[in-house]
This record gives sequence, C-alpha cells and structure tokens, in this order.
Amino acid sequence: MADVRNWQLGRTMSYPYPESHPDRQFAFVFNINRCIACQTCSMACKSTWTFSKGQESMWWNNVETKPYGGYPRHWDVKVLELLDEANSKAGVEPSWQPTAAADRESPYGSYDGMTIFEAAAAETPPVRQAVGYQPAQDEWSAPNIFEDVPHPGRPAPGSLGLEQDGAQLPEHVAWFFYLQRLCNHCTYPACLAACPRKAIYKRPEDGIVLIDQARCRGYRKCVEACPYKKSMYRPTTRVSEKCVACYPRIEGHDPLSDGMPMETRCMSACPGKIRLQGLVALDADGSWADDPQNPIVFMVRHEKVALPLYPQFGTEPNGFYIPPRWAPRDYLVQMFGPGVDEALARYRAPSRELLAVLQLFRATQKIIFRFEIEEGPKVFETEIDGKPWSMYDDTVIGFDQQGREAVRVRVEEPIYQRPAPRVNSI
Ligand code: SF4
Ligand code: SF4
Repeated sequence: MADVRNWQLGRTMSYPYPESHPDRQFAFVFNINRCIACQTCSMACKSTWTFSKGQESMWWNNVETKPYGGYPRHWDVKVLELLDEANSKAGVEPSWQPTAAADRESPYGSYDGMTIFEAAAAETPPVRQAVGYQPAQDEWSAPNIFEDVPHPGRPAPGSLGLEQDGAQLPEHVAWFFYLQRLCNHCTYPACLAACPRKAIYKRPEDGIVLIDQARCRGYRKCVEACPYKKSMYRPTTRVSEKCVACYPRIEGHDPLSDGMPMETRCMSACPGKIRLQGLVALDADGSWADDPQNPIVFMVRHEKVALPLYPQFGTEPNGFYIPPRWAPRDYLVQMFGPGVDEALARYRAPSRELLAVLQLFRATQKIIFRFEIEEGPKVFETEIDGKPWSMYDDTVIGFDQQGREAVRVRVEEPIYQRPAPRVNSI
C-alpha cells in the first residue's frame, strides 16, 4: 500500500498504487434540484453503448429515487454497512474534523474513518484491495424500483398530517429526491485497484477509467470493489464493462463538434438542464489547478456549492452534486459529507457570479473550458434569510478548448412575443 493524498478527505490515505495523475480530469456537476427523472440520460447512454445481447440489465447511467431506490438494489446501504463493520471492529468512530476555512486542500475538513481500501488492509489476513460485495443477479434487474416513493414523514397520531404544512423548507415532512449516477472516473479507482489482471487503466490525458476488454478475464473483482457499483459483468462476452465517458466525444471526434471536446451523451441529452461536464486541469501532484474561470472548478472549489458523492468511501470521485434543498440534513451529510449546509446556503442565495454560471448547464454540447461574465442591469431584489439579495441580468459566455466562444446565455430568459396576427396559429 502507498500513501496518497485525498483532498476530499483532507488527509493522506492508503491505496494499492502510488500517486500518478492525468493532465486533466473528467469531472461533472449535477444539480439534483432540477432533475425530473425523465430518464432521457439513461436512454441516451443505453441506446449508444449497452443495447446488445448480454447488456439487458446494464445501465451505465441510471437515475434512482432516494431514500429507497438503488441500482443495484441498496448498493449504498450495503457499502455503508461494510464500512461501519470495519470501523467498529477497529474501534474507530468515524467523524469529520473541521479544518481552517481557508484550507483549500481540505475544503470539507478531515475525515478520520476508514476508507474501503483501509478497511480491506485491516482484514486478517488481508485478501483484497477494497472491501465490497458482489450484487446478486436479481439486484441489477429493477433499476427503477421505488421510483417516486417518498420517505413518509411522521404525522401526529390520528391525523392525516395535513396541518403540518409538509412542503415547507428547509425539510419536507415527506421527501424523496432523484440521484443521477454514472461512473465517477475516480482519482483512486477501486475497480482498478482490485483487478488482478491489471486490465483497468486511467487515461493520462483525461483521467477516464477504462477496462481493456482484451485483458479482462471476467473475474469480477472490479464489480465487487467499486463502491458505486458502476463496473458490470456481461455474461455473453464473459468480461466486465463500464462507462467509457463517451471518450470519442471527449476527444473531439464527434462530427458535430468541429474537433472540440464534447460532453457525453447523458450530459448533452438532459432536458432538465441539471448537468455540466468538464475537464479540470491538474497540477503535477494531482491537486486541482486553481482555475476559477473553469465552471467546474468555480462551483466545486470556489463556491463549494457542489459536493462529492460518499467521499468517505475514499476513491475521490469526480462527480459532484448540488444537494436537494428539501431533504433531511443528516441524510444529505451522510451522502455528501459535511459541506451540505454551506452548499445549500450558497445555492439558496447564489452570488452574482454563481447565478450566471448556473445558466451554462446544458447550454451547449461543447465542453466549456472557461467562462466570462458581462454585467447587465439589476432586475430584481428581495430578502433571503433576512439579508438583501439582488438579481442581475448578466450574460455568461462559455469558451471551448481553443478559446472560441461556444455559448452565450443571459440570466433572465428572454421573452419573445408573437406578433398579433399569429398569436393563435402555428
Ligand atoms: S435527463 Fe436530466 S432531468 Fe432527465 S432524469 Fe436524467 S438527469 Fe434527470
Ligand atoms: S465509480 Fe467505480 S467503476 Fe468508476 S472509476 Fe470509480 S471505482 Fe471504478
């Protein structure tokens, strides 16, 4: 085991391989608040990559309803239980310790619980690289199970609960939310760590994690080790497969893209406009370059409005989520770490710059490497949490890899009025 730096945990941790980082990292931000569970993303992925024999139960992109849904069933509860077991065996009570707010390299504080790699190393004898489990066949078979089923809340005995005004923020009495999931192209992939054939690799140019189909022998160690359960076995070919991050599009080989890197199919198909995907420049030591004009870096590292999914697993996932405003905070903290309150406060009363950057979601299929904001007039003012808040009709401009303008969006959606003779005609 080597010591590697995990910025999401605010500490070094043990990992089977020494640090080795790509020049850029595939990363994305999802705004859970906007998802309508239309599953267009899931179908865009399926119709591109997993429509063949043996892939019937394979959903590289899926959208599940929390708290009960999951693909495969209860994947996160099971992994959390495995970690709980390991921590309690070792007498560790996991917690997040605050660090100085200015500590850029430990934005969420420091986590002292065991990761899936450390829990495996503590096993006697140590026989695997990461703790995990192999889902049974039927657990993959109902990706939409529990869709739209809420946690019921607790109305007073004998009442229907109507008097509780259950849809008030900050927490709804009955709640659910959609969790959109794909491979996180982790900085420290558990799938890669677990593969005895060394068939899994992380591309040096963009950090995309791929399985070499020719080297894989279908041992399914990656399926067991990936805590997010995003490596899947295909019985017809007897090898494992996973999300390939639509790498031909990332490489700019899509005919539509004019040679420029393009967002994946799931990102660019989203009607809810919840997704923004990018490539983040890394310093030699693997830390994110301080590039505040990159929209992903701006939202994750500067505004801290988007958070990693289950950072305590230890793989340093590169998918980040703006948490849902209405769900119980302790549930969200378990899922996204201790940055939840701050992220929600930022989202509830966004800075002028953040409000503009949020307009870039799904505004172009090209990957945006840099944004600029042109200031516009003040169009609205109010009070949020007792503090004055103003909205400006700024224009945000996104630039592609070559610095060319790829998109231009205003904060206030323009209104077009049809001329009187055509008001009711098409
Ligand atoms: S396409 Fe977008 S809105 Fe629809 S389910 Fe997927 S993430 Fe949600
Ligand atoms: S999410 Fe799973 S499959 Fe994807 S890189 Fe991380 S460990 Fe590997």
